[in-house]
Amino acid sequence: MDESIYEKNRELQRKLDHLLKQARANEKKQELYETFGFEIIGASTPKQLRDLLLSQTVERFQLLDVVLCLVDYHKDTERLFFERDEEAQLSYENKLLILDTLKDAEIIHSLAGHPVLGVEALKNYRWMIANLKNRNQVKSAAFLPLLRGEQIIGALLLLSQDPHRYQVGIGTLFLQKISAMAAVAIENCLNQQRLKEISYQDVLTQAYNRRYFDLRFKDEIARCMRWDDDLICMFLDVDHFKKINDTHGHQTGDLVLRYMVGVIKEQVRSCDIVARYGGEEFVVALPSTTLQAAHEIAERLRQAVCSTALNFHDKQFTVSISIGIASLRSLLTAQQHDADFICNTLLDRADQALYAAKSGGRNQVAVYADADLVAH
Ligand code: GH3
Ligand code: MG
Ligand code: MG
Repeated sequence: MDESIYEKNRELQRKLDHLLKQARANEKKQELYETFGFEIIGASTPKQLRDLLLSQTVERFQLLDVVLCLVDYHKDTERLFFERDEEAQLSYENKLLILDTLKDAEIIHSLAGHPVLGVEALKNYRWMIANLKNRNQVKSAAFLPLLRGEQIIGALLLLSQDPHRYQVGIGTLFLQKISAMAAVAIENCLNQQRLKEISYQDVLTQAYNRRYFDLRFKDEIARCMRWDDDLICMFLDVDHFKKINDTHGHQTGDLVLRYMVGVIKEQVRSCDIVARYGGEEFVVALPSTTLQAAHEIAERLRQAVCSTALNFHDKQFTVSISIGIASLRSLLTAQQHDADFICNTLLDRADQALYAAKSGGRNQVAVYADADLVAH
């Protein structure tokens, strides 16, 4: 009789120990998930968020891998997540999938609005791991939709080597919390980035504004110096623009400025930075470009502008531009200069060249060396 009570007690004690152990493990798990959730919410740039979701998840939760897919509602997701970071674009190539609302409509429609675990997740969402190098090691998966209200903005697929890790029937509360936080964070980060971009844009012409140019110019100079590449700074100014305003009206003048940005963008590469520097003055930074190539581009641009008859508000006229260019290489000597000095001097030299083009008769291209000659 006594023996059986003892036995029962021991059995109860064992059960209690087991429950306590489970509770502690759950507490730890919850802490891990919560800390991570707060970090995701705290991410302030798409880059930070991208690294948290695509690298840190694997480490923190001991996963084999993770795939994130995002529905590209504004046709800007890829650019916002990878801006100018080709290395990251390559390393995350198969881990971040961007879905086009038209081309991938069927796939988007197939994304469940609730978590899917186990065999079904692997069966239904195999396309998400189709290009992963380690796809053959995947033994279980958790599909987590990213929802904002009723709208599905993407999904996370957590992958494990352990076949028992994600099975039908396991609690998904932690996972759901994380995916809800990820969805909020993704939307916030992208919106913040979009806002930033708007504040870097010139409202009239949609070119970048001076503030953005000054920031990027410094970056690009540093990059070109690291790779021992040349960089060109090009100033463009509409000739006798005041007369265009006076003759055809301010609104027509505005259209000329917009047109000008279109022509410039057509002639340069997408990696070149085109900005409105002031009233009717534009600046272009051409990284990894030689002086000779830049001279040809400038000449082509000048000719394209003066040979095109404009027809705005039923008024026909032509305009011309003057261009000044200066190269980073011609400025670099054995002497070490700080980044601000290099930026300012390069801008100043391009401006001096522009001045030379103006005083040389307008509708022409001048290189800084020419400016030097003209100035003396
Ligand atoms: P130059 O050939 O020497 O460059 O002569 P310019 O007339 O082009 O240069 P100036 O600096 O004398 O005049 C620039 C004019 O650009 C004066 C200003 O009213 C006009 N302007 C500046 N911003 C805008 C704008 O946003 N829209 C319009 N329509 N005009 C503008
Ligand atoms: Mg002008
Ligand atoms: Mg001007």
